[in-house]
Amino acid sequence: MKIDFIGTSSGTEPFEGFRHTSIGITYKNKLYWFDTGENCSYAAHVKHGLDLLASRAVFISHTHMDHIGGLPNLLWNIRKINGLPATASRFTGKTLDIFVPGKRLMPAIRKMLSCTEGGFAINFEIRENSVQDGLIFDEDGFKVTTHHNNHLPKSQGKWQSFSFKIECGKRKIVYSGDIRDISEIEEISKGAELVLVETGHHIPENICRYFRDMGFAGKLGFLHHGRNILENFKNEFEKARSILGDRVFFARDGETYR
Ligand SMILES: [Zn+2]
Repeated sequence: MKIDFIGTSSGTEPFEGFRHTSIGITYKNKLYWFDTGENCSYAAHVKHGLDLLASRAVFISHTHMDHIGGLPNLLWNIRKINGLPATASRFTGKTLDIFVPGKRLMPAIRKMLSCTEGGFAINFEIRENSVQDGLIFDEDGFKVTTHHNNHLPKSQGKWQSFSFKIECGKRKIVYSGDIRDISEIEEISKGAELVLVETGHHIPENICRYFRDMGFAGKLGFLHHGRNILENFKNEFEKARSILGDRVFFARDGETYR
C-alpha cells in the first residue's frame, strides 16, 4: 500500500508548490483516487510517476472545486494515454467507478467532455455511483466505507459531504474530507494506523490534543492546508509535534506514505 500526496492545499488562491486536494492510494497494482483537485492527473503522471491506466475508482468527498477541479482532466488524460501506441490500449474495455455525492456533477462533466476533441468518444466505461453512508466499495481486499459529515447541509434529504474509512487488507486509514467538527471522525478513527485530517477549517494543534486525549495510537497526517498553515508551515508543524511528536506530519505535494 502506498499513498501519494498529489495535492495538499485547500481551496485557497494558488500557492506555489501546493495544488488543491487529491491523494492516490496504490494497492495491489490498482490506483484509487480520493478527491481530484486541480491538475491531479498531471501531477500523478509527471511528478509521482503513477500509472493513470491503473485507475480503478475515484471517491469524491464533496463537490467543491478544490476536490473536483481535476476530475474532467483526469478522465481526459486516461483516454489520451490509453490511445498512445506504447500503452497498448490497456484501459480499453475497463470500468472506472466514480463515487460522488449528489447527481449533478457527472452529467455536467460528461457534457463538458463531449464539447472536446472527438466528442470524447471512449472505449472504456465511466460508471457513476451514488454515495451514501456505509460500505460502498469492496474488491481485491480494498474496502471503502463512507460516513457523512456536516461540512455541507443535506440536499433533498441526502448528505452531500463524506469522510472515508479505507481498508487495504488489514491496514486501516481514515480520510476526513472537509469536516465541520473533528468529533465527526472520532468513531471511524479508532484503531486506524493513519488519519488524514484537513487543516483548512481547523487548527492542527487542537486536533492533535483531541486525538491524544481520546487515546489514539496511530499517526495523524495533515493535508488540505488552509492559508494559515501555508503561510506558517514550520511554526504550525512544530506546535503539532510538541503534542504528538513523530506521530504527526504535514503532507506536502509530491510526498508519499507507505
Ligand atoms: Zn475543501
